[in-house]
Amino acid sequence: MTLQPQTSPTHAATIQCQRCGAAYRPPALTPHVDCPFCRHRQALEPERLAVLRGYERQVGEDIAAAEKHAQHQATYEKWYGKPEERKNHTAEFFIVAAVCALVAGLVGGVLVAADVVQPMLLPTIVIMGGFLSATAVTYGRMFLQMFRKVDVKRGQLTDVVVACPTCGAPGRLTPGDAIDTCMHCHAALVPEQGAMQQGLDAAARARRRAAIHHYRTEIETHASLYGGGSGRHIAFVVLVPFALMFTVPSIGITFEQLTSGKPLRVAPLLLMFAVCGTLWGIIAMLLWLRWSRRQAIRRGLAPLQQQFQGRLGHGTRALADWLLAHWAGPFPLQRLYTGVNHHLLRGKAGGFEFLIDFHPAKAEHMVTRATLMIPAEIPGVSPMSVEHQATLAALGTQLPAGNSTVNQLALGLRHAGFDLRVSEAGLSASADEELMRALRKRPERLAEWSQVIARCVELVRALGGRPAS
Ligand SMILES: [Zn+2]
Ligand SMILES: [Zn+2]
Repeated sequence: MTLQPQTSPTHAATIQCQRCGAAYRPPALTPHVDCPFCRHRQALEPERLAVLRGYERQVGEDIAAAEKHAQHQATYEKWYGKPEERKNHTAEFFIVAAVCALVAGLVGGVLVAADVVQPMLLPTIVIMGGFLSATAVTYGRMFLQMFRKVDVKRGQLTDVVVACPTCGAPGRLTPGDAIDTCMHCHAALVPEQGAMQQGLDAAARARRRAAIHHYRTEIETHASLYGGGSGRHIAFVVLVPFALMFTVPSIGITFEQLTSGKPLRVAPLLLMFAVCGTLWGIIAMLLWLRWSRRQAIRRGLAPLQQQFQGRLGHGTRALADWLLAHWAGPFPLQRLYTGVNHHLLRGKAGGFEFLIDFHPAKAEHMVTRATLMIPAEIPGVSPMSVEHQATLAALGTQLPAGNSTVNQLALGLRHAGFDLRVSEAGLSASADEELMRALRKRPERLAEWSQVIARCVELVRALGGRPAS
């Protein structure tokens, strides 16, 4: 036996002829309906009709939103595959290249032996054979993926169980239907308040399920594509080979001149070593800057880590893991990219999980940020539409209207330099431009966030929020 959300019959109304008393099912809910037995025409209450229309519209909106989420989710799977079948494409490229190079080498060797091809061409055949075949395989697969069918899973809505007011038999209302038919007596079934609420709940549940599935796929896909974090070392990937390119010959030439017994040519050698020194100096300075800044951030986060038994982390993968575990709502993709000295602090305060996401670096495609996120279910926060979510760099919309405690806390936090946002996932407080500048200069000031965390938890409570389940 499976548990269903609601199986006890809820009230339903019907349509009954005011002249002959027969209950019947009109073809549609219109301002006037005709009795099929005595042809009597009667008007339906305009207020009731408006409520039923509103009910149809609301459920329709939720179902449409659920389908959009399902479509987005399916598109991710079309291009990147399901999480369980996702492969390492870089490794695959090199394996294919190696195999094809081997085959090209064998074929080339046979051709050389048969005197068809010059032996000098053999290395070119091997390299080009491997590289071109691997490229062809990669692009061929991308081309095939364009024709992959997307499997959009439509949300299943649980029917609302009602008792037929005419015959008493249990009937089922499809959520969003303002009128259905009793299977037993064929009279109309029109949902009353309770039944409508159940229909609305079922639609909201379906929408939420589809949204969460979409957001999770999105975060998981981007984390697996960009989670490596190799972008942080770009500066060194360029500088170190360059420095080596100057240093090794410089030492070689000096050594040669010293051993050959000829007088040293001081001026050119000094120039070469000056270039080497500058390059290594820049590398050392970059390393030192990063290291000292990291120490400053750690000094800022250490008191919070101690107070809230927090755990430090960094990078896209760690951020995505926390989001997948706690953040049940939209998350701007730009915020998944992480660069130099990105830091996270995960912890718990007053029964709520929290995350501090600190990204001090300014880089293209990345959001410079200091954000506190508190996952919570806050009443009165409506789910965000797919279109809105896609263009969003902030973590939600404005706070819903609240009581005086809410207003006071919000005002205090805004004064301290925080931009407050809510979404179906919870509350977030991001440092505004001025505060961000101050934090970039002195990351030790993150230690002051002990107060910010406490205030934000209070604010979530004042908004009626509960820890996200
Ligand atoms: Zn009638
Ligand atoms: Zn009936």
